[in-house]
Amino acid sequence: MGDYLQEIASRLVGYDTVSQKSNVEAMAYLGNHLEEHGFRVTLQRAEVAGVPKANLIAFAGPPEPDGLILSGHVDTVPFLDQPGWTRDPLTLGVEDDRVYGRGTSDMKIFLAQCVDAAAVLDLRRLTRPVVFLFTADEEVGCLGAERLMPELSDLLGNIPKPRLAWIGEPTSYKVFHTHKGVAVFSISVRGMGGHSSTPETGVNAIAVVAKVINTIGQYQAELRAAPSAEFAELFPDSPYPTLNFGLVRGGTAGNMIAEQCTIQVSYRPLPKADPLDCLHEITRRVQALDLVDFSGSSHQASVEFSKPLVVPPLFSPRETPLEGALFDVADQQTSGGAPFATDGCQFASGGIASLICGPGDLDQAHQPNESIRRETFENGTSRILSVIEKLCMAEQF
Ligand SMILES: [Zn+2]
Repeated sequence: MGDYLQEIASRLVGYDTVSQKSNVEAMAYLGNHLEEHGFRVTLQRAEVAGVPKANLIAFAGPPEPDGLILSGHVDTVPFLDQPGWTRDPLTLGVEDDRVYGRGTSDMKIFLAQCVDAAAVLDLRRLTRPVVFLFTADEEVGCLGAERLMPELSDLLGNIPKPRLAWIGEPTSYKVFHTHKGVAVFSISVRGMGGHSSTPETGVNAIAVVAKVINTIGQYQAELRAAPSAEFAELFPDSPYPTLNFGLVRGGTAGNMIAEQCTIQVSYRPLPKADPLDCLHEITRRVQALDLVDFSGSSHQASVEFSKPLVVPPLFSPRETPLEGALFDVADQQTSGGAPFATDGCQFASGGIASLICGPGDLDQAHQPNESIRRETFENGTSRILSVIEKLCMAEQF
């Protein structure tokens, strides 16, 4: 195993970059190494809820069009309070055929491999720019990439903004050009409190939320019953928007009428449609409900929808030079639909077409004792170099 790769990987896993925490030290560490390898590095800083955050932008090569972006997020999902851990999440552990640690598959090892590749890249041979975009806050709604896009052209200076991006999310080197979006919102029901012995004097918010859930559940069943023919192959498990109730919170005590109840709802819209379509339909149906509880009371509850957090879907064009290069190094001939969302949806708003393909395994992402195959840990760097060679060192595609 390459010593340099292992050093970068183990330092990077050692930084606790759970989305809620600061990632600045980790980004500065990566930036220093990329600078040593001849890249021009900028950290785009921001303060989010009082926590300093950074996106990293690094580039090398001549100011020609049609460069390549390699991208990944440095934040991870939490590990404290996650049952099942038998190792230290922040210590890179190499054991037999796997390498362990939080963020190994999703997706610090890909970033470490990018730095490892930069260390041996002969920058004088670049005919087109290589751009690394390492982002913050992907796991909480691609917010780092959202902050980055409006400023990217300026941050790249005289380098024309590349139109292709390779995002190394965990796919076991399958290639994906599309994914669904995500929308998350909450619905708060306000009833009228009182003593549980006289339910008809109030309106029970939990009971009204039950009606709301039932209404949304019926809509969910209708969506499932009308799958999209266009996306049947790309999303064979669910060629329709899927819905989820993620959280419910309400009531005060067993002998009180629940005055307040809130649910958090999310759904994953198909590409090409307006990602807010489902929310509009849910809003319409909930507003049509008779918002009384089951007590015989005629009091109506009130309902409020929060502003949704929306991660748009991704639908990148096929048959790009990047697709061909990834098919070669990943030994694939097909591209499909990823079952998760990525920063690619934000890149699309900046005119950048993303393909998703990476060394980690999706079934390891967000899991306790997260790991990556030792084989892909070790051979990822050469795959990156091969793609850069094809796209940024040839005279023509
Ligand atoms: Zn990820």
